[in-house]
Amino acid sequence: MITKEMIKKIPKVELHYHLDGGVRPETIIELAELDNIEIPSHDPKELADWFHRGADRKSLGLYLEGFSVTCAVMQTKEAIERISREAIEDFAKENVAYAEIRFAPTLLTDKGLNLEEIVEAALRGLKAGREATGVEFGLILCAMRHESPDNSLQVAELAVSYRNKGVVAFDIAGDENGHPPKAHLAAFQYIRNRNFSITIHAGEAFGVESIWQAIQTCGAHRIGHGTRLQEDMVYKGTRIENMGSLATFVRDKRIPLEMCLSSNIQTGAAPSLDEHPFNLYYRNNFRVTLSTDNPLMSDTTLSKELELAVTYFNLTLRDLEKITINAMKSAFAPYETRLKVIYDTLKPGYAKIKSETNPNDY
Ligand SMILES: [Zn+2]
Repeated sequence: MITKEMIKKIPKVELHYHLDGGVRPETIIELAELDNIEIPSHDPKELADWFHRGADRKSLGLYLEGFSVTCAVMQTKEAIERISREAIEDFAKENVAYAEIRFAPTLLTDKGLNLEEIVEAALRGLKAGREATGVEFGLILCAMRHESPDNSLQVAELAVSYRNKGVVAFDIAGDENGHPPKAHLAAFQYIRNRNFSITIHAGEAFGVESIWQAIQTCGAHRIGHGTRLQEDMVYKGTRIENMGSLATFVRDKRIPLEMCLSSNIQTGAAPSLDEHPFNLYYRNNFRVTLSTDNPLMSDTTLSKELELAVTYFNLTLRDLEKITINAMKSAFAPYETRLKVIYDTLKPGYAKIKSETNPNDY
C-alpha cells in the first residue's frame, strides 16, 4: 500500500513545468493589486477555480487562455524574480530534488523589459530559491509556435548565450494546431549547430506527424507529452503487437517523453486516465517521465501526478524509483549534476523509504 505521505516524502524530478502555469494564486492577486491589473477574482480559492475551469475544456487552445492572466502580472523584473523563487520553494515542499522550469521570455516584454533582463530576473529568483532550499534547477527557454521564425531564432540565441549560467535547453510551446515546428527550423538549426539541447511539445494536440517532425526535422532530444505516439502502435491493453518506425526509434534511442497526466486529460490529448498511454509506454520500456505541466491551471502537484500513476497504472515504489531516476538521467543539466542528484539524493531517499517498507510492498 503506497500512501500519500510516502509519495510526498520520496525525492522527485520535474522535467516539464511552465513558470507562468505554476504561479501561486495569492501572488497573482498581490501583483495585480500592486499594478492595477484586472484579474477574474481577488479571492485565492475563486481565482484558482477560475484557472481550473478554464483549463478543463478538452482543447489545448482553450487550456492556454489562462496564461494571458498569469503573464499579465509577470511584466516586471521583481515579479519574475519572485515567481521564480516561489516556484523553487513550492518544489521543495513536494521534495523535488531537481526541476526544469520553462517559460517564453517574449511573452513578458509588454512593459518594455528586454529579453536579457527577463532571463536574468528569472535566474536570480531560481538561484535564490536554490540557496534557500537546496533544490537544483535548469531553465528552459521557450519560443512560441505562433510567433515569427525571427522571434524563435532570437530566443534560441538567447538560450545559447545563457548556457552555463542556468539555461539548459530550448523548447517550442503553444498551440500545435496550424503551427508546425518546422516553421522554426532556423532556431533549431542554430541550437544544434552550437551543441545545445532541444525539447519540443509534440503529440499533444497533433498526432504522429508532429512527433516525427520534432525528432527528425527539428532534432528534439526529448518530447513534451508525446501522448499521441500510441497512434504509431497496434496494441491490446498494454501489449504492443506492432510498432511503426517512429515508435521503434523513440524506444530504441531512449528518447525521453515528458508526460503530464492531468494536463493531458484537461486538454483532451487523452480521453481519460484509463485510456492514457503512459502505462502502455511504461510497460513496454519507453523512457517515460512524469511532470506537472502547469500546477495552477491543472490543479496539481508532482505528488498528485505520482498518486494518479500509482492509482491508475498500479505502479509500485520500485516503479516510481525507476521513473524518477530515468527522469534525472534525461535531464538537460550537466552530467555531473545529474550524477550528484541521483547518488546524493534520489538513491538515498528511496533506500530510506525501502528500509521503512515491507519488502513485499516495494
Ligand atoms: Zn507544456
